[in-house]
Amino acid sequence: MPARAGNHKDPPPLFEQIQINIGRNEIMAPLPKRKISRGRRDRRRSHLAIGKVHLVTCPQCHHKHLPHHVCPYCGYYAGREVIQVEEKEK
Ligand SMILES: [Zn+2]
Repeated sequence: MPARAGNHKDPPPLFEQIQINIGRNEIMAPLPKRKISRGRRDRRRSHLAIGKVHLVTCPQCHHKHLPHHVCPYCGYYAGREVIQVEEKEK
């Protein structure tokens, strides 16, 4: 007869409550209760695709750059030079 049998006031320790017998008193790791179906998995991933970066053509130097940003190639924005772009050494 185990020591705690018959004692209705003290619940068993949490360690023993969650223990699932998989042999040699090992504790089983928490696992998903059910398999996620292919359809549910793929619906979750339907938002994970990376979108294209939208670019506009610079009217000054005709390079592609981000809209509403200073052109990193010529330093122009809204028809005037706002930053000095360093010339790359060849
Ligand atoms: Zn430019």
